[in-house]
Amino acid sequence: MDDKFKFKFDIYQRRFKQPLHTSHGVWQIREGIIISLIDRAGKLAQGEIAPLPWFGSETMSQALKFCQHLGETVSPEDIAEIPDRLPACQFAFESAWLNLTQIKEDSQACDLDFCYLLPAGEKALTAWQEIYQTQLNTTFKWKIGVYPLATEMAILQQLVKTFPPQIKLRLDANGGLNLQQAQKLLAVTDTLKAIEFIEQPLPPNNLAEILQLSQEHTTLLALDESVASLKQLQITYQQGWCGVFVIKAAIMGFPRKLTEFCQNNCLDFVFSSVFETEVGRSAVLKLAQELNHSRAVGFGGEYL
Ligand code: MG
Repeated sequence: MDDKFKFKFDIYQRRFKQPLHTSHGVWQIREGIIISLIDRAGKLAQGEIAPLPWFGSETMSQALKFCQHLGETVSPEDIAEIPDRLPACQFAFESAWLNLTQIKEDSQACDLDFCYLLPAGEKALTAWQEIYQTQLNTTFKWKIGVYPLATEMAILQQLVKTFPPQIKLRLDANGGLNLQQAQKLLAVTDTLKAIEFIEQPLPPNNLAEILQLSQEHTTLLALDESVASLKQLQITYQQGWCGVFVIKAAIMGFPRKLTEFCQNNCLDFVFSSVFETEVGRSAVLKLAQELNHSRAVGFGGEYL
């Protein structure tokens, strides 16, 4: 049986509404590829390749090269053979293929909670109120390690003082603190009820220290940069990480493998965006719904 699909792809470039400041630097433009698969009946499904090379995925040019070499048709076998060094491509092609071949249940009702990103620094003090008024949102994320820690800790104390009791705050250091700074911060957050968890306090290689911090403090910790691929996620889980795993599904390879791992193991996880467009976003949110995601997903707000 001829089960090949017609294949097309388009590059996109979207400028962030506000440049994104993280401890990886300033990010201005999100670049990626939208792939389209068309079956014999003319039905079309799309997938998104949204690389994040500083997180360990392929680069945009590697993804583009892969698409250019595929030709005009793609078979399910071609998709299954996409190598692990192209995890964002694996995600895009398999999500599109699943959209074409799976019977869709109508699940318009999206019962996921969303976590909204606050701007770094003191802008967070007013930004949360604007979002809270329009979204009635109760989970926020704030990037730290962007300004001096003493400044950020002073802002943090001010910020949580103004929160209604139901609001939760995630802090994301993107691996930008050292051990002493992390200990200082945790001594404070251990006393703050509003903190849901702190993401990646130390660089990805300092896993032993992060584990130790998680045992010495009551603040829940999450791994993000340390678990940038499915393989790293599996290894870290086997090493006994009991905190939260941040899952950037769009760069974690075949969605079915990820789903299987999450279903067969007992993980505390949050799905998080790589600032993909609506195509990648809806594929990831579908996964989150299938997995009965209980924490707020890191997909709040429109950035592009
Ligand atoms: Mg993070």
